Amino acid sequence: MSRVRSADTVPEIALRRALWAVGLRYRVRARLPGKPDLAFPKSRLTIFVDGCFWHACPRHYGEPKSNTDFWRTKIAANRKRDRRVDRELRKLGWQVVRIWEHELRENLPGAVARVRELLMRQAST
Ligand SMILES: [Zn+2]
Repeated sequence: MSRVRSADTVPEIALRRALWAVGLRYRVRARLPGKPDLAFPKSRLTIFVDGCFWHACPRHYGEPKSNTDFWRTKIAANRKRDRRVDRELRKLGWQVVRIWEHELRENLPGAVARVRELLMRQAST
């Protein structure tokens, strides 16, 4: 696997469908730093769905038992890249929201509500 952000993961598709169902329209993989999974250009809001393994979620990430050094370096690079992408987007005036894959599995309606709220807040400013 050469890309960190593998296309169209199951939780990501579930989020897209749920947002679409409540009438929210977005762009998928916009041409922005880090290629956000979703972007709401009018509200200047970007969303990344972060995989629990690839982005080292504090609840689910466990270091692999083999090739430990390889994975440690790889995951650290991913996290560093995430921070850099966040900075770049913010500098361009975008708000960045990162949602863990497990949040979507456990509470999809909660994630949808959070995104809606952010969009509404953005619209009223
Ligand atoms: Zn997780």
